[in-house]
Amino acid sequence: MAETVKKRIAIYGSTGSIGTQALEVIAANEQLFSVEILTAHHNDELLVKQALRFKPNMVVIGDEKKYHKVKEALAKTDTKVFTGEKALEETAAMDCYDMMLAAIVGFAGLKPTLCAIDNGKMVALANKETLVVAGDIVMKRAVEKRVPLIPVDSEHSAIFQCLVGETRNKVEKVVLTASGGPFLGKKPNFLVNVKRDHALQHPNWAMGAKITIDSATLMNKGLEMIEAKWLFNLTPEQVQVVVHPQSIIHSMVMFEDGSIKAQMGLPDMKLPIQYALAFPYRLPNDFPRYDFKKPNTLSFEEPDIKTFRNLALAIEALNKGGNLPCVLNAANEIAVFAFLRNRLGFLDMTDLIEKTMQKTTFIKNPGLDDYFESDGEARSYAASLIHL
Ligand code: NDP
Repeated sequence: MAETVKKRIAIYGSTGSIGTQALEVIAANEQLFSVEILTAHHNDELLVKQALRFKPNMVVIGDEKKYHKVKEALAKTDTKVFTGEKALEETAAMDCYDMMLAAIVGFAGLKPTLCAIDNGKMVALANKETLVVAGDIVMKRAVEKRVPLIPVDSEHSAIFQCLVGETRNKVEKVVLTASGGPFLGKKPNFLVNVKRDHALQHPNWAMGAKITIDSATLMNKGLEMIEAKWLFNLTPEQVQVVVHPQSIIHSMVMFEDGSIKAQMGLPDMKLPIQYALAFPYRLPNDFPRYDFKKPNTLSFEEPDIKTFRNLALAIEALNKGGNLPCVLNAANEIAVFAFLRNRLGFLDMTDLIEKTMQKTTFIKNPGLDDYFESDGEARSYAASLIHL
């Protein structure tokens, strides 16, 4: 990497799976990056530990009850401590950083990410829900502010990497690969009895709880289809999903001449995280390498959307557009929350999402306020169905 001035990084959601892996990448490249902002929701202990190690300019602890504990623990340092939801937006609007890594999970990531864009800061985007909920608004603002959005999601990073140097060429379609999750090939009579701990065992990726459940239901792939549409300015027909259980090809782009470019590597989120943080440079590292000498099979199959109906619902939302992806996302967040607490069965998550999509007011051309209202309406309805 040619630059000598350190890139100043703000990690929103630093205590999560993406956040902690990003700090590992930064720790291995401290000559290139400095850490300016770290945020957590409840995990004050890890936030303090990270702050003592990386000496950020400021930290935000979402949970206001934890504020004094964090403040006290960092009293002898120069790190400023803030708390509450508003503080996420206020700090994102500050000038002390160059790039936000948006790694908060769920709808909560939308506002801080928009603040970073409005503030003209580069965004490394892990939080896919931001684009699922309000992709039109987010992309429009990014273009207006000339803010690069660099994807962190491995599939979108793969597509992004395949598109480097191809600005003059027309994309026929993008192909998102899906591992199929822990229940690949299973049928409803098996899935009906699936419990939380089993669904949390992903065969290829170690991730936060919400995305791991989304991977098991294939909702994750549906969210990614919507994310891809916005990120790469595609029509729904240009976004295809293929199951590739080995997770070696992270996604592909087919161009108008039928040629296909794929990005490959072992499944390790540190790679797309590092690529996004260092973009446009690649950095050397000691991550394990794919070994072509070992016997390997790369296989592909159609996703079973009759069994994994969450993916079918996401495709419906992708096709219909308007506020439907936002409603789908809200209902899914409630469903996953309830499933993780053993309040809802694995297949019941789909029914909850479907009913909420049918009942929530449809808005064809929503503005930002409409998205917040639809999110609220969908959450209340979904929660009322299961007495949350
Ligand atoms: P985790 O659940 O592991 O971490 C989430 C982070 O967000 C934590 O720092 C958490 O704080 C914080 N957080 C949670 N809720 C709120 C809230 N309401 N307000 C503010 N902060 C909050 O998630 P992941 O790291 O797995 O995922 C983060 C995002 O990246 C998701 O959108 C996911 O879809 C996406 N992604 C993740 C991948 C992965 O491999 N993990 C791969 C591709 C995309 P605390 O720890 O204090 O609760």
